[in-house]
Amino acid sequence: MLHLKNDDPAVAKLIHKEQTRIEGTLDLIAAENHAPCSIREALGSVFTTKTIEGYPGKRYHAGCGHADEVERLAILRCRSLFGAEHVNVQPHSGTSANLAVYFSVLNVGDRVLSMTLSHGGHLSHGHQASITGKCFEVKNYGVKKESGRIDYQAVADMAQTFRPAMLIAGASSYPRLIDYEKMSEIARSVSAYFLVDMAHIGGLVAANVIPSPVPHADFVTFTCYKTMMGGRGGVILCRQKFAEKIDKAVFPGCQGTSPVNTIAAKAVIFKLAGTPAYKQVQARTLENAAHLAEALQKKGLRIISNGTDTHQVLVDVTPRGLDGGRAEQVLESAGIVLNQNVLPDDEGRKGAVSGIRIGTAGLSTRGMGTKEMELIADWLDRIMANHLDDGVIQDVRREVADLCCQFPVYGTEE
Ligand SMILES: *Cc1c(COP(=O)(O)O)cnc(C)c1O
Repeated sequence: MLHLKNDDPAVAKLIHKEQTRIEGTLDLIAAENHAPCSIREALGSVFTTKTIEGYPGKRYHAGCGHADEVERLAILRCRSLFGAEHVNVQPHSGTSANLAVYFSVLNVGDRVLSMTLSHGGHLSHGHQASITGKCFEVKNYGVKKESGRIDYQAVADMAQTFRPAMLIAGASSYPRLIDYEKMSEIARSVSAYFLVDMAHIGGLVAANVIPSPVPHADFVTFTCYKTMMGGRGGVILCRQKFAEKIDKAVFPGCQGTSPVNTIAAKAVIFKLAGTPAYKQVQARTLENAAHLAEALQKKGLRIISNGTDTHQVLVDVTPRGLDGGRAEQVLESAGIVLNQNVLPDDEGRKGAVSGIRIGTAGLSTRGMGTKEMELIADWLDRIMANHLDDGVIQDVRREVADLCCQFPVYGTEE
């Protein structure tokens, strides 16, 4: 960062501090992962200055030859990675990808059936706080409180009475696999389009360690920075018959130019996702989540849905005398970084956040395995049981720092 240090020492220093934070803390945020250095090189490349509108071969500015090639490469690799009929790699984010899907086939005022936020759904699935909630008439399904699993019968019943134009499956905090076949049958039974938002689990699907929604859905969206490990940016996969509508909905429908440096990073991650090393990380992510859930359960903590099939573990922290916010805070002071999360039980209790959400993607990318999950489960339990005891917090902070040294993320490259 020679130039940055000269042009802007303040920002250079913050980047350095952020790197130190990443190296020295445990990232258990389910919506994060550590991206390979090659991704960061692509993101920091000269492609960041290229202006593109339109699609390869049909641009609105000159000088797009290399940008065309890199976008074609990203599309080709993504199509083969997921077995998709059509791919659009231009969405700025997962939310932008979802917007484009909606506006490709829906009209303002159409009905959408999606998962409720407090049961794990996402803001961009029609929540009132999002533009998507203002544009569409939305109803939500949820999980059964006892099992923590999607209530498919309720989804089917709601579909029959509500007659949505689109059914959405996919969630931000739902640790179980979704029965895409069942959901697609429900969508078909009412002639609704079927969108699967696999933002969180894209990397697990890419590595083939969990089932893919692609054969079942009309549209699949995801973001590249979560389990996918590829830095930021959204992607849409769809059936060929929607190709033209999707491309028009992305540009010029919902976006202007798309960042070519991000498209280049997408191309890189779609290549890396085919390697044995990537598959190993994703397999380890699953194994680590299952192990962590079990270890926490042995300590008497309540795990939502009694376990996990993905990278996520949802934990009820209230029996330890904390709420999610306080747990997040005290764990961060011990170097364990995660986020508070509403639980299905919090529904209707305004402001209540009873849980924390844990993800194992970052830890697994660092090379940690089940032995380290034992340690981490122990620390989580110790901190929550002694959240007022600064001595305990400092002890754990030291142990966390030691472990981080043994598993560097980037080492000392900069
Ligand atoms: C994270 C997430 C998104 C949003 O992705 P952004 O790139 O942050 O806009 C969309 N849908 C789901 C289910 C998510 O978990």
